[in-house]
Amino acid sequence: MRDILPEDQKYWRYVLKKTEPLLEFFGFEKIETPVLESTELFVRSVGEGTDIVEKEMFSLKTRGGDRLTLRPEGTASTARAYLENGMNVRPHPVKLYYAGPFFRHDQPQKGRYRQFYQIGIETIGDSSDAVDAELIFLGHKLLSNLGLGGYNVHINSIGDSNCRPAYLKALKEFYKNKIKKVCPTCKIRFKANILRMLDCKEEGCRELSKDAPQTVDYLDNECKTHFKHVLEFLDEAKVPYLLNPHLVRGLDYYTRTVFEFIPEENDSSQSSVISGGRYDRLIETLGGSKTPAAGWAMGLDRIVEALKDNNVSVPDFKPRPKVFLAQLGDAAKRKSLVLFEALRKAGIETKSSLGRDSIKSQMRIAHRLGVKFTLIIGQKESLDNTVILKDMDASTQEIIPAEKIVEEVKKRLKS
Ligand SMILES: [Zn+2]
Ligand SMILES: [Zn+2]
Repeated sequence: MRDILPEDQKYWRYVLKKTEPLLEFFGFEKIETPVLESTELFVRSVGEGTDIVEKEMFSLKTRGGDRLTLRPEGTASTARAYLENGMNVRPHPVKLYYAGPFFRHDQPQKGRYRQFYQIGIETIGDSSDAVDAELIFLGHKLLSNLGLGGYNVHINSIGDSNCRPAYLKALKEFYKNKIKKVCPTCKIRFKANILRMLDCKEEGCRELSKDAPQTVDYLDNECKTHFKHVLEFLDEAKVPYLLNPHLVRGLDYYTRTVFEFIPEENDSSQSSVISGGRYDRLIETLGGSKTPAAGWAMGLDRIVEALKDNNVSVPDFKPRPKVFLAQLGDAAKRKSLVLFEALRKAGIETKSSLGRDSIKSQMRIAHRLGVKFTLIIGQKESLDNTVILKDMDASTQEIIPAEKIVEEVKKRLKS
């Protein structure tokens, strides 16, 4: 976990400013859920035997004995909120997005933190292939909107509860007499979550899995048609994609379409910036009625990293002060506080340094800030109810009645 310092804030603000309006244009509404949820939610939705549930969750037990977990991802929480708040009676699909911190006790590496940030979108209550395509299209649009290019959409279909059992059986058959050659983790996966053997990062396992049966060969007609339509949409929208038969995504709740946006020069899913898929059974698993859904999440830490690596020019957002307010003496300090507020209300960007007592050091700050005017209230001015208006470029100054100063500054800033 790390701190995000003031000088980095512009990147984060830039991403949100570029992202949220686009999502809202596409009809997504923002939702915020708690960072802490019942452990049970993630075990049931993400699934036992997944890396997240097995070893990556930050969990705790309250004094009352409740088991809670810092949310490791956003889909389960969003689905829980959808059910708990009776959103199932709203017109469907219900389109939601979230942004915030998530937590996984993962191996730390570049661009990967144990408190990481995601923006995610979910379309709940629509099974059509057009939804999958729209989500992917939107991800593609977003990245180019941010000034980031060079990503491939890796895509696959992992079928549904109708056709996946046959595939899993074939996979089991395939690995059965190779089990000695796989890594220790995969030995566990073989029993607990065999699909995950396909995206193991170990060299030996990767080599082995090359010949493994592919999900697409086991799809029934409905899943096949769904997948075909998604790809046709992407062709039409000119979104570049790669069929990746080994993309399975580690979470239990996925059905049919799964995808990841991965940099062209690095084809490891370790470096994906957006990942998601369809999860038609999740709402049901959590006690709702049969409700198809799909979504993705974008990793902001990696996006910020990419913005820096690619030297994307990001606006500073910091307002540039036009005026510096300097003061000398207690009475002047009080007056300048009132004047500061009057300037703020008039929309004039102003800086001051109330803690300083010497005019000289305050003038130094004013010079450093590059302001156009410095307003000075000294002991004499505070008695006379006047303000010295100093034009920094012309190095001239004049005395203005206090009640006229805001108007005067406004007028001169315009000219
Ligand atoms: Zn199927
Ligand atoms: Zn392995």
